[in-house]
Amino acid sequence: MQSFDVVIAGGGMVGLALACGLQGSGLRVAVLEKQPMDEQPSGPDHTLRVSAINTASEYLLRQLGVWQSITEQRVSPYNDMFVWDQDSFGHISFSGKEFGFSHLGHIIENNVIQRALWQRASHASDITLMAPVTLKQVVWGDNEAFITLEDGGMLTARLVVGADGAHSWLRQHADIPLTFRDYGHHALVANIRTVNPHQSVARQVFHGDGMLAFLPLSDPYLSSIVWSLPPTRAQMLMALPADEFNKQLAMEFDMRLGLCQVESQRQSFPLTARYARSFAAHRLVLMGDAAHTIHPLAGQGVNLGFMDVAELIAELKRLQSQGKDIGEYLYLRRYERKRKHSAALMLASMQSFRDLFAGNHPAKKLLRDIGLKLADTLPGIKTTLVRQAMGLNDLPAWLEEKQ
Ligand SMILES: Cc1cc2nc3c(=O)[nH]c(=O)nc-3n(C[C@H](O)[C@H](O)[C@H](O)COP(=O)(O)OP(=O)(O)OC[C@H]3O[C@@H](n4cnc5c(N)ncnc54)[C@H](O)[C@@H]3O)c2cc1C
Repeated sequence: MQSFDVVIAGGGMVGLALACGLQGSGLRVAVLEKQPMDEQPSGPDHTLRVSAINTASEYLLRQLGVWQSITEQRVSPYNDMFVWDQDSFGHISFSGKEFGFSHLGHIIENNVIQRALWQRASHASDITLMAPVTLKQVVWGDNEAFITLEDGGMLTARLVVGADGAHSWLRQHADIPLTFRDYGHHALVANIRTVNPHQSVARQVFHGDGMLAFLPLSDPYLSSIVWSLPPTRAQMLMALPADEFNKQLAMEFDMRLGLCQVESQRQSFPLTARYARSFAAHRLVLMGDAAHTIHPLAGQGVNLGFMDVAELIAELKRLQSQGKDIGEYLYLRRYERKRKHSAALMLASMQSFRDLFAGNHPAKKLLRDIGLKLADTLPGIKTTLVRQAMGLNDLPAWLEEKQ
């Protein structure tokens, strides 16, 4: 039987970030990851899963001491964003420079972030990394939680953290109800070579039944796409021969970067909004996708998860320094209240975007195009939007103090 203060189920970006943030706090931490960890450095090919990492998450990753190793592997800063409604006059553009920022964010492969955090955690004497391991049973006692692994191993923890992703085993095992809503979209992702360079601009077009984003990668002619569309169309596009797929893609993107050529396999993910009824309970906390998932149209999913991390690091450090029981629900409620509020706001705004840009009824299209035009030209609106996208409007106090 091994004893820990905090056992984190899930060694994805969010779970590992929490472990790194608790380093040196006096808490003994274990991370349980069910996949074997690939510690090999990145090869020349970009992997398929990438995230637009905003400034707030960059602050966190800097604070955790991994930002430099991430940038040394492979990142792609983007300085401008351009968003438009297909077949109409509605568009909006953002430039970091306009607001005094050198960049708006970075496109980073998920496994680059995960690997940097894993390496950082593996050098910490107060963090134990276990992979691959699978949880079999968790029993919550008054003073400790008892965890049994598939391989027969047993652990105890004062607090168990569910960072085990959208289909969280821990959330289900703890019987925490989930509110969910099918977005009616699948996201098709692939890496695309274009004739024209992307010039470090993130671009997104809305087109009635979905949206298509081109995210700039470190190669000036390579972009990662996230194409959200109805499931039947996504399946059809997945099955198309590459030539035909390339043609449809270039047309859907209004030829903004010229002809397109798919350079990777294509993958598709069903998109569902999820919101756990509780983010905390007796000796349990949920965070990241285990607590909430949102539409990727604004690239905010893991950014939201990283802010859960920032809030929980501050809370656990505070409780520990005051000698309080870190697993008491009474004390975890503050984390829960703050993060449920942020997640609910984000879910609501994603739903409003999704609804506003759905359909091509002329009156609705006119309304949203006027809205885009006003947002693009009226003073003040863009500043708020840019700060929102950069995560600076809802920065957890602990992270703000560190800047
Ligand atoms: C198409 C698409 C595009 C996206 N683009 C963006 C973007 O641009 N910006 C952004 O911020 N977000 C984006 N997201 C969201 C982002 O990918 C997720 O929010 C993020 O990966 C969640 O991280 P996580 O660590 O919470 O969960 P996960 O990444 O799912 O990690 C969970 C980890 O737990 C492990 N695990 C699972 N079950 C168990 C178990 N029982 N025991 C032990 N370990 C377990 C898994 O192996 C995994 O390593 C996008 C999502 C999609 C689908």
